[in-house]
Amino acid sequence: MRTSESVTELGLYTSTCCQEELIFDIGDVLCRCPHCESVCDWELTDVLISHKDLDSFSPTYPGSGLLRPHSDRKSETSDR
Ligand SMILES: [Zn+2]
Repeated sequence: MRTSESVTELGLYTSTCCQEELIFDIGDVLCRCPHCESVCDWELTDVLISHKDLDSFSPTYPGSGLLRPHSDRKSETSDR
């Protein structure tokens, strides 16, 4: 992948000249290297998960595990 080409995969890209890391989304145009500001090659180093895929994960988010049993505290204070 090279500067001015359009991105086909959301991910973390690294410029081969300076190892500058940037995240590009699908449809983005690869920019020049942010370090040396010249036309460069970009290498896809990490594929990222899109927001659509993340939504399917949210129901399994362990939010219920954070709930504390407040009733225990109340009974403690009422004893005094
Ligand atoms: Zn560079």
